[in-house]
Amino acid sequence: MNNTELDNKNPWEGLHEECGVFGMYDLSGGDVASTIYYGLFALQHRGQESCGIAVSETDGPKGKVTTHKDMGLVNEVFTGKTLEQMKGDIGVGHVRYSTAGASTRENAQPLVLNYVKGTLGLAHNGNLINARELRHDLEYTGAIFQTTIDSEVIAYHIARERLESKSAEEAVVRACRKIKGAYSLVVMSPRKLIGARDPFGFKPLCIGKRDNAYIITSETCALETIGAEFVRDVLPGEVVAITPDGQISSDCSLCLPQEKEARCIFEYIYFARPDSHIDGVSVYASRIKAGRFLAMDSPVDADLVVGVPESGNAAALGYALESGIPYGTAFVKNSYVGRTFIKPKQSSRESSVRVKLNVLREAVNGKRVIMIDDSIVRGTTSDRIVKMLRDAGATEVHVRISSPPFLWPCYFGTDIPEREQLIAYNRTIDDICKVIGADSLGYLEIRRLEELSEGLPICKGCFTGKYPLEPPKEDIRGDFER
Ligand code: SF4
Repeated sequence: MNNTELDNKNPWEGLHEECGVFGMYDLSGGDVASTIYYGLFALQHRGQESCGIAVSETDGPKGKVTTHKDMGLVNEVFTGKTLEQMKGDIGVGHVRYSTAGASTRENAQPLVLNYVKGTLGLAHNGNLINARELRHDLEYTGAIFQTTIDSEVIAYHIARERLESKSAEEAVVRACRKIKGAYSLVVMSPRKLIGARDPFGFKPLCIGKRDNAYIITSETCALETIGAEFVRDVLPGEVVAITPDGQISSDCSLCLPQEKEARCIFEYIYFARPDSHIDGVSVYASRIKAGRFLAMDSPVDADLVVGVPESGNAAALGYALESGIPYGTAFVKNSYVGRTFIKPKQSSRESSVRVKLNVLREAVNGKRVIMIDDSIVRGTTSDRIVKMLRDAGATEVHVRISSPPFLWPCYFGTDIPEREQLIAYNRTIDDICKVIGADSLGYLEIRRLEELSEGLPICKGCFTGKYPLEPPKEDIRGDFER
């Protein structure tokens, strides 16, 4: 991931996606755990704090689920032996970064719930805005929660609704009527794999197929990784179920008129992998376009265009293509900085930014450089990167940002903080430019955002303060213990 802001939780990145989900049902009865592992591996960019897989046999006893989850990266949590022991032809997997609920092992997903109809496995990407009320109601009617995440509220609701419903998918639809906010879910019932996407379509979700197995997952890059073909996107508001006869059933009773949909534009700008397509739109092409728009709307004379890796790279290429200024590589990124890395102390000579990113002096020395990044959150790192370029001999540093300035927080699964912490709050672009020490600064214009999603309706709440859903009165992000 690109954004190199510092925060308390992770010293190198300011913005985080909440999670990635991957569900699979092999109708031929083959084991799915190792394929889910590779799927999660392809989704690692969506969450690096914890991960897990739950599998079950559809022809075995209802309620027998094998789960393995822990803190850490996919390749830290699973070994070949662990996966071998996970027998089952249906399963769900999850990678997590916590924007709601503490970063603990208990809060790792998938969640597995035993109830009278069998066992439910659930993996969730997104953030609910009415989880607090729903949890309160559930607690007052006897529910005992094992975690502090809003996903458990969803799991409980599905389990309760199942008692009144003819099928597991109907229970999911009924639960989805009660929850509000952003969610892309994969749910494993004893005999079915179910996927659900919230009516606004904040988070992506798609269906794939490999031989006689179906997959429901966050991004198409995970399908390609496991050699599956893309079948289609799950529509905003749609609940799909893969049934034992190999059919995909669909319920669109929660779908909104298309103009009300509100995809998170940050999936295109930053979160998703560039080789993914979301709702038919290439993430890579969106980023190239963002760079082209920056070159049209914020031109500047320079010798070299560089991107802050990774997501800044495609936008930098777009800028170069549009402006005719050569594209180059200025940064070497250390990709091996994991969750357990010890953050250097304030006094330490090793800076967090330098540990993650270093400048190629030969590339920038004596040059006027345009540096493209995807966003500036607090601004605490941009100044360091600008300084690194200058220290390496760049004669001018012009910063271009492939999103508009953040002015408002996000309540739907992205950890954009309160307004007071945002560098753009109460500052002009000139002020921000001075703070980060650049020669000039330009942001993507808001009017350009819809063009990134090829006209598909998007959420712009963090730029405009106008959210597709009424934001909660109190900040519900964080865990329920607060
Ligand atoms: S407020 Fe911003 S980050 Fe949050 S869902 Fe909307 S576009 Fe995405």
